[in-house]
Amino acid sequence: MSSERRVNVAPVSKKNRASAAMPQKKAKLGQNFLVDPAAAQRIVEALGDISNSIVLEIGPGRGAITKMLSYRAGRLIAIEFDRMLAAQLRIEYSRTPNVEIIEADVLAVDFDTIIQGDLAGISDRQNHPPAKARVVGNLPYYITSDILLKLFKFNRNFDTIVIMVQREVADRISAASGTSNYGLLSATAQLYSDVEKLFTLPPGAFDPPPKVHSSVLRLRVNPKAEKLGVNADQFVSFLKLGFAQKRKTLVNNLKQHFPLERIAEAMKVTGLKPDIRAEAVSLEKMAKLFNLLR
Ligand code: SAM
Repeated sequence: MSSERRVNVAPVSKKNRASAAMPQKKAKLGQNFLVDPAAAQRIVEALGDISNSIVLEIGPGRGAITKMLSYRAGRLIAIEFDRMLAAQLRIEYSRTPNVEIIEADVLAVDFDTIIQGDLAGISDRQNHPPAKARVVGNLPYYITSDILLKLFKFNRNFDTIVIMVQREVADRISAASGTSNYGLLSATAQLYSDVEKLFTLPPGAFDPPPKVHSSVLRLRVNPKAEKLGVNADQFVSFLKLGFAQKRKTLVNNLKQHFPLERIAEAMKVTGLKPDIRAEAVSLEKMAKLFNLLR
């Protein structure tokens, strides 16, 4: 039998609780269901061999990806916020021992508790430490950045993340520094992972069709803060300052927080032109600048 467990979750906002309870507001949960089985298969295949892995699915919805995962994954934990959909999935998988459906807001669950508990179980059974968990999801687009930031915060639990996001967001996450799409999201994602853009789907691959195209990304978790000699949280806060206003130069964004002379000196030592914008600066140089200004 599939197990049902309660997880510790932070209080859900009134707005979210209302949208979960009222069917007419479900558009707010970003419910564009995948109806292209070939695309679902490509997403699952992008996870690699999952036969001995825990897979965490975010927003299983009507289960387009869940079904394939249930056949292949060592263990599947799916987190769905919509009460009706979660209940339907629980019934569907009630006799599938490797599948667990959790009804919760993914932004409120504690991944450490969920993943580490399961890893410990598998590790005990097989007498050796299992691989880290993998994450997959056709994400609800209204909280894409929040979900990513949360996955990065809990990155020690994961080795691979395969997600479908709005195409423009995928372009930003995967952009190289020096290109116009590069920004805070790109820098943060690339601080924690190596990003690959896999493929793009048209609106017709979903029901109801969204107004935008969607792209699938694979993120190989590879935290770089230690190598860059920075504290990840402090560095991300610094990146937020540097990218605060896209049209402004890096100096202009930073000057409210550091003395101008110190910024000028640190830029010179780092080899950055005074009028450069944050989007043109590599993570390595940004880290050097941060360490000089700290
Ligand atoms: N995986 C399904 C598919 O590909 O057809 C559904 C994808 S749909 C774009 C996003 C799913 O995420 C919906 O089922 C929605 O109810 C769910 N969802 C929305 N907000 C959520 C949240 N905060 N936590 C967990 N699931 C959420």
